[in-house]
Amino acid sequence: MPSDRTIRPSRVLLAAIPTALLMAVTPLGATPTSAFIGYYHQVITENALPSWQKSSLAAMADQSDGAVVADDHGTYFDLGPLHCDNGDYLHAKDYPKTREQATTEIIACIRGSIARFRNAVAFADDLVDAQGKVNPEEVSLTSPCLWNDQRGRAKCEVLEQLGRGWHPIEDFYSHSNWTDQQVTEPSITNPPGLARTVPAPFFTIRDYSAMAEADWINAATTAIPSDLTTGCYPDFESTGVLADCTGRITHENVLKKDTPDTPRSRIDHNFDHAVSTATADITRQWNDFQAELRQRYTDKRGNAMICALTHDDPVRDCV
Ligand SMILES: [Zn+2]
Repeated sequence: MPSDRTIRPSRVLLAAIPTALLMAVTPLGATPTSAFIGYYHQVITENALPSWQKSSLAAMADQSDGAVVADDHGTYFDLGPLHCDNGDYLHAKDYPKTREQATTEIIACIRGSIARFRNAVAFADDLVDAQGKVNPEEVSLTSPCLWNDQRGRAKCEVLEQLGRGWHPIEDFYSHSNWTDQQVTEPSITNPPGLARTVPAPFFTIRDYSAMAEADWINAATTAIPSDLTTGCYPDFESTGVLADCTGRITHENVLKKDTPDTPRSRIDHNFDHAVSTATADITRQWNDFQAELRQRYTDKRGNAMICALTHDDPVRDCV
């Protein structure tokens, strides 16, 4: 659920969003969540991180305070690309959005996760020294991390970047038709289901993070199926416009699978498929991040960084 916390917008992620838009954003404090509700973000994230110890896992995954739900709080909540919203499209005469516009919103969703991945890799450098010895003050969780996009303890910084990078990916599966059962007569109120059983190929965040912008956009655009859709939600599109959902596939009444009891969730095993594929994707994201740390910083330092992130007392346990 959104909180009343005032959070400074991300310097990095929101750099492309016009200042006028940020000034215009007012927290919609009473609005219901537009995501997998916090509980399912926690379930997905915990199941994807079986090797993490208790306090470290709670900092990442807790349904209320974890890094993975930070994008559902404050002004972040109202920015569509952070939830993969507004990538709606239907092959139908007079549909208000083009395939290209829908793809642009999905690309914006991917772009945010790439930025967060790059930040997380960079911030991990401070977890350990040049020999791979843990920096005690950088890995302490004795006071709670603040998810405020400000530099602080390195462990908190890495968790924040990973959590904010993973949130849109988890949301994608509850907000899109990627895993939904196929539909015989697609319409605005019953969009196609793509019946996919594996994570989306356009969330290969580690690969994309090593590519030039134009190259990964090209790769992602090619990988996005022509009948992929997410739902329209009245938040800000990547263009800075507040979404007008008239005549569009809506998140709220049609596509959302944020809980098991929505109309779309109840069809076949749509909800379970969204959760299981989201879990598989976060498993991939975590594995890819670990591989990147080892490649970037050597096995020795990379393994020490991973130990520091996943262990509650790294000074004692990561030697
Ligand atoms: Zn969300």
